[in-house]
Amino acid sequence: MNNLLDQITALAKRRGFIYPTSEIYGGLTSSYDYGPLGVELLNNIKRLWWKEFITKRDDMVGLDSQIMLRPETWVASGHVTSFADPLVEDKVTNKRYRADHLIEAWLQQHQDIKDVVIENMSIDEMAEFLQTHAVKSPDGNDITRPKSFNLLFETHLGVVAGEKSTVYLRGETAQGIFSNFKNVLDSTRVKLPFGIGQIGKSFRNEITSGQFVFRTLEFEQGEIEYFFDPEGTDWEQLFKSWQDAMWHFVTSTLGINIENLRWRKHTDKERSHYSKDTYDLEYHFPFGWKELWGIAYRTDYDLKQHIQYSGVDLQYRDPVSGRTFVPHVIEPAVGINRLFLMALVDSFVEKEKRTVLQLKPQLAPKLVAVFPLVANKEELVAKAHSVYKLLKAHDLAVAWDERGNIGKRYLSQDEAGTPWCVTIDYDTLKDDTVTVRDRDTTKQDRIKITKLIDYFHSLFFE
Ligand code: ATP
Repeated sequence: MNNLLDQITALAKRRGFIYPTSEIYGGLTSSYDYGPLGVELLNNIKRLWWKEFITKRDDMVGLDSQIMLRPETWVASGHVTSFADPLVEDKVTNKRYRADHLIEAWLQQHQDIKDVVIENMSIDEMAEFLQTHAVKSPDGNDITRPKSFNLLFETHLGVVAGEKSTVYLRGETAQGIFSNFKNVLDSTRVKLPFGIGQIGKSFRNEITSGQFVFRTLEFEQGEIEYFFDPEGTDWEQLFKSWQDAMWHFVTSTLGINIENLRWRKHTDKERSHYSKDTYDLEYHFPFGWKELWGIAYRTDYDLKQHIQYSGVDLQYRDPVSGRTFVPHVIEPAVGINRLFLMALVDSFVEKEKRTVLQLKPQLAPKLVAVFPLVANKEELVAKAHSVYKLLKAHDLAVAWDERGNIGKRYLSQDEAGTPWCVTIDYDTLKDDTVTVRDRDTTKQDRIKITKLIDYFHSLFFE
């Protein structure tokens, strides 16, 4: 297990960012809960995503569709037949692994073999590779031949006319967008090109575990379907503009280091048959370069499939020319939890015996922490409390701490990623000024209480 990932996992648990799900019963595989600080960070990411991609734009609308849809949806989309991973089993322990992951790990130990592109391999080619190289499980045991394992979770609606009916927990949020395409057209004033976006839970019966919240059974996606007229639209330019929008969100809005980001174009063999172009925006996680955010030109595949399976006309009618056609679509799809993990990894710094989460203020679970210099002086505590209330009244996320000494409180807020700490001391009682300490520089400023709100606003919006 990776050292940096271990450190981050420990910090996340200790400070209430992330807990293992059902820990008191021994945990549930690849499942995590978000604690008091974690849920704030998660909500901040979702709020920023929504603001940037829905609220701020004139060509986007939002949606919130259900987790369970009519099962025909997943037949039409192709998930029932081909949403699968190559599964192998350790013949001794019966632990399950993804064949492509075992091959990836094997190749890392055999760097002389360079011409293998795992993404291009069919399940039979993986089987042959595993056999030829006698690849073992991580426990050193023989493994079974890979077989296709469907990732959709199945469940059943209550008894209907004596029969159980199978439904699936959605494997992606996108299909709820396609199936509401006509509703959005009929109920709003959207005109092509336009997009529909939503944030919501998706479920995949993932085989692997051990990469913290990178790959979980239950996760949140932020998905956009951007519809356009294929006639007269330069799709390559449109695709590029969405890549730029994704890049801007990650680097500028979330403040992630560009050295830790790169684009990877899907190979022709790897790409879905209906897609004309697909890129992954990858982040350099502690366990390697991995997909953070995918963008695909899905053509008119999904709408056409739903037209065929539902029998409903999902065409668009151009209001000027009267021409009817099925729009094409570009899909940027991200995992909110992967953005979360990236934010933790990218902001984690250890310096001068301090562990600091250098999160952008917009992401930080708490923006300011307020301390009375000492906890046993009533006047100081009362004054500090009035400052705490003032900041709260201005909708700032404020923490309160009166335990231990100031130094320990600073260390504690550094770990939580709080950008500023405000200390109320004896001078405050005389001149109404407070000390504001900056998390990243540790510099301290003396500020009038009446100027505090403007001070934080200027730093927050710089
Ligand atoms: P991967 O190859 O890593 O399994 P994918 O290509 O299957 O991902 P998509 O179907 O394109 O993923 O889903 C869009 C986004 O949803 C991904 O870029 C990723 O950020 C996120 N995502 C997918 N599966 C998971 C998961 N099991 N846990 C957390 N996030 C996920």
